[in-house]
Amino acid sequence: MPYAYDPQNIFARILRGEIPNQTVAETEHTLAFNDIYPQAPVHVLVIPKGPYVCADHFALEASDAEIVDFWRTIGRICAEKGLQPGEGGQGYRTISNAGEVAVQEVPHYHVHILSGRPLGRMLQ
Ligand code: IMP
Repeated sequence: MPYAYDPQNIFARILRGEIPNQTVAETEHTLAFNDIYPQAPVHVLVIPKGPYVCADHFALEASDAEIVDFWRTIGRICAEKGLQPGEGGQGYRTISNAGEVAVQEVPHYHVHILSGRPLGRMLQ
């Protein structure tokens, strides 16, 4: 394993049902829920159920089924919330922080989906 996964991180605890969450979508391999401190009117976190720390870890170690399920869940959430640019939605941003330089707070891989306000060129 290239990374040591901390099973006590808060998203692991959410996956075990130890901490409640506002679920947006759930599949065999993926859970999506609302961010507890939303930075935009739409702020959803999408996480794999497997023990991956960050994007490269997930991309290199997860199965094809997990990766497809993860990104299809992101696509479905965007579609269900009517976010797709050019389809009547205003668009959205997906971002994923990894490690210290990006100030990753929770060491379980996650993608943020943000929308509902002008987001500027970059997040801080
Ligand atoms: P990061 O900085 O990319 O790791 O983002 C972690 C995100 O998790 C932040 O946007 C937090 O607001 C969010 N967060 C932390 N704890 C919880 C929780 O218990 N439920 C939902 N979101 C959380």
